[in-house]
Amino acid sequence: MPVDFLKTEIQYLKGIGPKKAEILQKELNIYFVEDLIYYFPYKYIDKTKFYTVNQVDEHSPYIQIKGKISNFRTVGQQRKQRLNATFTDDTGSIELVWFKGIKWVKESIKPNTDYILFGKPSLFNNKINIVHPEVEELSKHDEKLQFSFLALYNTSEKLKKKYINSKAIHNFQQSAFTIIKGFIPETLPDYLIKKLNLISLDQSLFNIHFPQSIDLLKKVRYRLKFEELFYVQLNILKQKILRKEKFKGYVFPKVGNYFNSFYKTNLPFLLTNAQKRVIKEIRNDLGSGKQMNRLLQGDVGSGKTLVALMTILIAIDNNYQACFMSPTEILAIQHFKTLKKMLDGININIDLLTGSTKKSHRQIIHEQLLSGELQILIGTHALIEDVVKFKNLGMVIIDEQHRFGVAQRARLWKKNINPPHILVMTATPIPRTLAMTVYGDLEVSVIDELPPGRKPVKTLHFFDSKRLRVFGFIEKQIQLGRQIYFVYPLIKESEKMDYKDLEDGLESISRAFPSPKYSISVVHGKMKPEEKEKSMQLFIKRQTQIMVATTVIEVGVDVPNASVMIIESAERFGLSQLHQLRGRVGRGAEQSYCILMTSYKLSNDSRKRIETMLQTNDGFEISEVDLKLRGPGDIEGTQQSGIPFDFKIANLSKDIQILQYARNIATDILEQDPSLKKEENKIFIKQLKKLSKDNVNWGYIS
Ligand code: ADP
Ligand code: MG
Repeated sequence: MPVDFLKTEIQYLKGIGPKKAEILQKELNIYFVEDLIYYFPYKYIDKTKFYTVNQVDEHSPYIQIKGKISNFRTVGQQRKQRLNATFTDDTGSIELVWFKGIKWVKESIKPNTDYILFGKPSLFNNKINIVHPEVEELSKHDEKLQFSFLALYNTSEKLKKKYINSKAIHNFQQSAFTIIKGFIPETLPDYLIKKLNLISLDQSLFNIHFPQSIDLLKKVRYRLKFEELFYVQLNILKQKILRKEKFKGYVFPKVGNYFNSFYKTNLPFLLTNAQKRVIKEIRNDLGSGKQMNRLLQGDVGSGKTLVALMTILIAIDNNYQACFMSPTEILAIQHFKTLKKMLDGININIDLLTGSTKKSHRQIIHEQLLSGELQILIGTHALIEDVVKFKNLGMVIIDEQHRFGVAQRARLWKKNINPPHILVMTATPIPRTLAMTVYGDLEVSVIDELPPGRKPVKTLHFFDSKRLRVFGFIEKQIQLGRQIYFVYPLIKESEKMDYKDLEDGLESISRAFPSPKYSISVVHGKMKPEEKEKSMQLFIKRQTQIMVATTVIEVGVDVPNASVMIIESAERFGLSQLHQLRGRVGRGAEQSYCILMTSYKLSNDSRKRIETMLQTNDGFEISEVDLKLRGPGDIEGTQQSGIPFDFKIANLSKDIQILQYARNIATDILEQDPSLKKEENKIFIKQLKKLSKDNVNWGYIS
């Protein structure tokens, strides 16, 4: 048996051939025997259990049942044709239905013959029926290799049309394993398998398709999940070690005049304990001689900006420049103003660079950056451009990480001889498991405490029919001197429709709150930056009481006097977005409110999201629910990470313990043998190479 049998094309397997191979490639990406045996079942039928007709109802799982098939009837015309048949055992009968392959079914199923049927019962026209059951003659079934659990595989419509259903894939697996069983090379070293008491890969792959017992199935699933998570962790941790070896960090040994005079004279309040802790963590990094790559997670309003500023001051005290990058122009302007105000009376040269910076001013910025005169530059993506060159960039702050991709981060690295220190800030807390993978190469700091004196935002849910009541409440709040946000969803693909939502909403709001008594600011994606900014400014200066906006205001905007956030069509927002929006209020000392407006009809998921928002204000708790609802690939911040989320078997929201364990094991191994040179560890290198070849994304992780 040649070792590369795993790389044999599937067309050579018994029962497949070139035609089926082509469809399997197209539909399931299965090219080689290896791809096939890593195409895992999504569930199993307990074949030790046979149901009888009288035990079946629409809530039954996938079942197995024995009986006879008769009474074929073709119903409907042409393309809408379907085939019905009656399935009977000693206890009664149910209906079978086929929409496809009618001719073949009619010709191949014999009367007065015992069959075994697999399928999922459902209710249609008040009758129990099974659509497209898998059918097997009882006598043939008895001849075959028997296992207690039958694996079920996902297929597609196109595959089913060519009769490649779950059963067919199961047969292909049999063909594959008849040949390779016993010859699948191990991917973990012997010592680890013994130490962790794992099942061998050969046994595991066989049993995932042909489980001999529930107990064994559990163990092999564990082995396969462990391996999958382990290699991702090993890869990330190894890259981290490499990076630390490769890049010297600028050493900022001292805290000097800028930092100290800010701390003594300008700091408008006491730091929270969490802020103090994080600043200490950052100072340790900056003194260490290694390049800092730190993620700062903190809920909206937790005071990350201040931490950023103090970090910048340390860089400047050590004669380095700093830049601060925000995802939107509004935010960049706001940060610029906030920082300038906080630095009032301290002689620091700070400037703003965005897409709308005038050419003449841009020129000045470029020159001052090169001469070193400009110490802090705040801005948007405009900062990344190659024309922006620094004399001595030592510190980069990136706000709201999830809007920036890894590639963009990399461009910032190149702006000095060694990469500058990087502090990435995010207000979208990420579950621990995800942080370990998505940001596995970053150190993580957490601000888990809000500044004192904040009252938690009260969250309420109303159906659209209660709009007048909500308007009444808003009127009272405005009389108390508060300001109000109305936010409408914005989905890129249908900007026009969303704009219409906002327009319609604006009309009814303007009717309820007419000028001149009330005035309204509007901000949406179709406006020019300067129009947006003007409208924002009116709201910030309290000249308007109501802000009607799409989600452009989602991130970072700070108007402490705004105390009510009304989220329209809240069912259309993701959890983290809802939480972000809620964070726009509750910044002042007053009681604030977040009102979720929805239509009457809610899907299960949107109901769960609304319930979660009503139950908790804790961003980390919310992110855990979000992860469970959406799966890791859809969580904000993960898409650009380059992490392969299409795990074959592991599930980041469920396998937290295995992940933690795998990470610990990987850490131990790398501590003993950082470059994996030891003989017994060579298999890791081989496997990492193979995985990065199979999965292009892996290359981006660093
Ligand atoms: P975020 O973490 O969302 O970026 P900000 O940095 O914008 O939060 O801070 C939110 C508000 O809290 C700001 O108005 C800021 O001035 C204020 N703030 C920050 N730190 C403290 C503190 N230690 N005590 C009181 N207020 C603070
Ligand atoms: Mg912020």
